Amino acid sequence: MYNTKIVLQDGTTICPGYLDKEKKEQLKNEYGTTRGYMWCGCRSDQKLFYRIAEDLKIYPEHNNYKHDRNCCRFRTDTGEEERKTAYVVSDEDGTVTAYLKFNPKKLEFGENVENEESNTEEEITEDVEEEVVIEKEEATTKKESKKEPKLSLPSLIRSINMDTYAEVILNNKKINSRELFSKLVYFRMKKVKVSRMKKSIGDLTLENDGVRFFYFPFAGLVKLEDKGLTKCYIKTIGKDGKVYNNLIFPETLEKLKKEFFKMYGGMEPNKDTMIAGFQYYKKSKSGIKYKVLGRVHLFQTSELGIYCRSILEKETFDTICSITFADNKLKLWIPADDESIGGIIQVSNKQKDILILFRSNKDERITFDNSMYEPFVVGENEPVTKERLYKAIGYME
Ligand SMILES: [Zn+2]
Repeated sequence: MYNTKIVLQDGTTICPGYLDKEKKEQLKNEYGTTRGYMWCGCRSDQKLFYRIAEDLKIYPEHNNYKHDRNCCRFRTDTGEEERKTAYVVSDEDGTVTAYLKFNPKKLEFGENVENEESNTEEEITEDVEEEVVIEKEEATTKKESKKEPKLSLPSLIRSINMDTYAEVILNNKKINSRELFSKLVYFRMKKVKVSRMKKSIGDLTLENDGVRFFYFPFAGLVKLEDKGLTKCYIKTIGKDGKVYNNLIFPETLEKLKKEFFKMYGGMEPNKDTMIAGFQYYKKSKSGIKYKVLGRVHLFQTSELGIYCRSILEKETFDTICSITFADNKLKLWIPADDESIGGIIQVSNKQKDILILFRSNKDERITFDNSMYEPFVVGENEPVTKERLYKAIGYME
């Protein structure tokens, strides 16, 4: 998404997948039947024009545009779309498709979920019509099959979080608390589908599907002894502000705690921790149905609820949000579809945006158009400060 914005005649940019109906209508009325009022940002020199049609969808004005290879609108010579991300926000109508390594509707307890995610790629087939694969005859030409990107549970949760935030911010609305953020996630999930599943994630229910999406502030752990058995619960704060106990099997809980501990350098969950994933209906041997957390992920968030992969990210987002809160010219959003981008700060009177990049241990190659973005690297020894940020903005075109 970060390299796919659309440039308007007046120099402002838009992210079509996040434009709400009002904004689209407003643009359509403003430009009427004028042609060539917006173009793909990937090759501003070429002006690949787009328009908003009567049905409020965004269409190219001509066929056979040659987009930059890194642009989400890029097609091969045969017209094929190369999927570069596992979280696709549709440009045309704003719907979201997530490609997953697992099937949220199926979970055998006792199975090792970790192995399932890393080794096998279970296909989601239940909602699909039969597919016939015709193999090419030229078996002699060895073509390396490219692996299409798919999301693990933590990556899905992060994408969902970033996506919710982007939709709010890019439509000029504000989030001022984690509680509000959690409510907005549920709202957004009505638009997010898992590939090959008919229902959106937000529409899955325990009654009809045996599974539901789960996203709440974490409020502690409980262990209870019941008739010689140990029962574990995760406490969460519900939408009504009350605390709820959610059953979790001890093995799932152990794995969850271990992952959190590893991710945040030995930290214990605290008031900034959220829990998200999927809750399932199970039947006991005596036939009683009960709810249990199956695939879950614990993570830290910023004060406003933004997903943080590290303490450095938390400090960075908290600092940037306090700066943007006080300055209406600045807007922070984070692309949901590209994990290498730490964030984007739009500056209302500048052509360029600030591209936040977190220094990592691995070598990473990041492609961006330097006529549109100013890279801003954040690391342990180079934190974001107000002075540093405004200095960078001052240098920008
Ligand atoms: Zn393009």
